[in-house]
Amino acid sequence: MGTTIGTIARLFFRRPAQWGAAALLIAAVCCSSPSELTLKKDELLTCAATGAMDGRPGAVVVMDVRTGRIRAMVQEETAVGWAFPPGSLVKLVTAWKGIEEGSFGPETRFVCSGSALLSGIQYQCWYPPGHGDLDLVHAIAYSCNLYFLSLGDRIGPDSTYRALAELGFGKKTGINLPGEEAGRLDPPAEGLGRRYLIGDTDAVTATPVQVITYLSALVNGGSVWVPTVTDTAGEIAAFSPKLARRIDVSRAGPVIVKGMRDAASYGTATNAAVEGHEIMGKTGTGSLLGAPWATHAWFLGFAPAESPEIAVVVFLYRGMGGRDAAPVAREVFRAYFDEDGVP
Ligand SMILES: [Zn+2]
Repeated sequence: MGTTIGTIARLFFRRPAQWGAAALLIAAVCCSSPSELTLKKDELLTCAATGAMDGRPGAVVVMDVRTGRIRAMVQEETAVGWAFPPGSLVKLVTAWKGIEEGSFGPETRFVCSGSALLSGIQYQCWYPPGHGDLDLVHAIAYSCNLYFLSLGDRIGPDSTYRALAELGFGKKTGINLPGEEAGRLDPPAEGLGRRYLIGDTDAVTATPVQVITYLSALVNGGSVWVPTVTDTAGEIAAFSPKLARRIDVSRAGPVIVKGMRDAASYGTATNAAVEGHEIMGKTGTGSLLGAPWATHAWFLGFAPAESPEIAVVVFLYRGMGGRDAAPVAREVFRAYFDEDGVP
């Protein structure tokens, strides 16, 4: 070993000085370029997501919320090619639109008693005893169905529909992969309007890539990025973010962030929490009309909570958001926070 280093050193010093310096510089850049370290981290995130899925059908996508660069994607065909009802994740869209429009605010309160009658229809909260008196942050944290039903009623099905359309639902994200599915966003019609109020409807379906792309805009300051896959260190080095559109989240963003932080600390998303770090999360459990017994599980999370860098979406064909999808995201967050000095 010593001989080898000595030989290389002698070779360098026999050449003109600038040659040696240039060669050392090239060697340093090639051996540990930032894009190579980033690629390594992306591989670790993919590995963590694959392990946590444990062969279950579904998908995991990890995206840099500051640029739209995809950092990991597990079960790509499902992630980009299949659309599902997003369930309670739509509550975030209702919260965003209502606050920005001034229809309600973080101080808006509602008493959840477990069930409620609205326009002659009896609705249930997922928590039968009822959540009691809630403000908006707590309603996000506990994902209270009746609170959001009342907010949805306040802004109306048309407004919820327009909010989803403004984010991009029903349209492809433009990700650089083949076979992208656009999902569905049907305008509220007679009979479907009620279902729009709680967003739990197959009038809205979305791929995991659409969910992570569009909903990240609610917490990243309002940027909807074009999600982009980079497979090599060279592609990472050459990558430049592409902005699809901007939305206004100046008033709603901080409230949604607080609600999702609370969800991970005491609400429905605690199964995604990582000790020693603050994250944000929102769970979702979606079902197709006519098959309420077979639920899809969703989890959408961001980290670090203080200033989000990555988003993680987990989708499972069968399961519950908090119980089944959130623990998958926890493993991805753990890998992200791993002390290796690479963000
Ligand atoms: Zn409730």
